[in-house]
Amino acid sequence: MFKESSEQDPNIDLKLNDSEGLNTSRFPIIMWTFLIYIEAMMFQNLPTPLPLQSILFSLIMILQVFMHWHVRRVLHYVSWFYFIIQGAIIFSSVFLLPKSFPIVLVGLTPVLIGQSIGIYYQAKKVVLMFFSLYLLFCSYMIWSYDSANSVLFISVLIPIAIVVAAYANLFYRQVNARIRTQNFLAELELAHQKVEELTLANERQRMARDLHDTLAQGLAGLIMQLEAIDAHLTKGSAQRAHEIVQQSMSQARQTLADSRRAIDNLRSKSASEVDFADAIREEAQYFMMATGIRTALDIKIKASVSRLMIEHGLHIISECLTNVAKHSHAKNVWINIWDNQGIISIEIRDDGKGFNPDIMASQTGHYGLIGIHERARLLGGTIQISSTAQEGTTIQVKAPLAKGDAS
Ligand code: ADP
Ligand code: CA
Repeated sequence: MFKESSEQDPNIDLKLNDSEGLNTSRFPIIMWTFLIYIEAMMFQNLPTPLPLQSILFSLIMILQVFMHWHVRRVLHYVSWFYFIIQGAIIFSSVFLLPKSFPIVLVGLTPVLIGQSIGIYYQAKKVVLMFFSLYLLFCSYMIWSYDSANSVLFISVLIPIAIVVAAYANLFYRQVNARIRTQNFLAELELAHQKVEELTLANERQRMARDLHDTLAQGLAGLIMQLEAIDAHLTKGSAQRAHEIVQQSMSQARQTLADSRRAIDNLRSKSASEVDFADAIREEAQYFMMATGIRTALDIKIKASVSRLMIEHGLHIISECLTNVAKHSHAKNVWINIWDNQGIISIEIRDDGKGFNPDIMASQTGHYGLIGIHERARLLGGTIQISSTAQEGTTIQVKAPLAKGDAS
């Protein structure tokens, strides 16, 4: 998980503390380092072979790749020291490969600058890193090269570093956004589970209350009456005892009726398809009255429908109908709901102007269809949107009826 930075830069508001961004960027960085290494070796060893220095350089490059691969762990132990070690490795090429070190410096310094964005996510630190490395680069160049060549290399590093930094910024931001979305989805799912648990707890409370109000209270009343009868019979007043027996019989019947009603209420869950269908009819009726759009409704549900399905199903239908009213300019809408072999299908079709469902992913500020996708996913189902310009839109959600049966 990644956290908000406490010392945020106003432009860069997220810190990539221990996110996966660094891990994701390892592969391209290592490939690039390898390419630079091969090139530097060729440029050095083809004209002037330096076997000993080359072996030493290869060893420290292996160390560099190792540090890139374990970047998160290394950072954990050595923090900002990471950049000093990586910088020292790159700049040691000046001594080890006198012919090809500019390739190493120009090729690998921008990588470090780019990586610092992923690590710090703070403009201040990244700029500091850029200038330190750049200063080091300039001094090495001036020190070890003639002036014409060093001016060329010094000026070439700036645009490269800027392009790499811009790319790295975009890359880490995208990775961050992806991780954030994943976290939100996980939280959403967790919240949903919580709601389900609460619903279950409510249900248990209702059962307990019903049992208390019917059986427990009824039986308590009967016991009191039996005790009174016993007392009267002991006293020999059979007439009074008989009256109470009559009352008790009527109360026992009442308790029996109440208990049956409570049990029927509990059972009504298995007959909840009636409620689902009723709720859809009500929704359709209300929609037709409010919008004047002709609404044809066809519900053929044979199996029982779980509470979870009812809840999400009603939301899906209501969102689709709202969209028809808001966006489609349709004259007719058809709502078809049926089940077949344990799969429930909910289909809402309109003859409106249609739209391009692919733009949905790129739109911000529109969450209705995304919500439908999410609900379909929570039901373990699928959603299909087909739309043709000027002909209309069909949204079909299919989900297994078994999901959420435990409720
Ligand atoms: P919102 O309703 O807030 O705009 P939605 O995610 O529900 O967001 O819908 C996204 C977009 O898809 C709408 O802005 C609309 O352009 C288009 N759309 C959705 N349903 C229909 C429909 N039945 N007919 C035409 N366009 C639709
Ligand atoms: Ca909508």
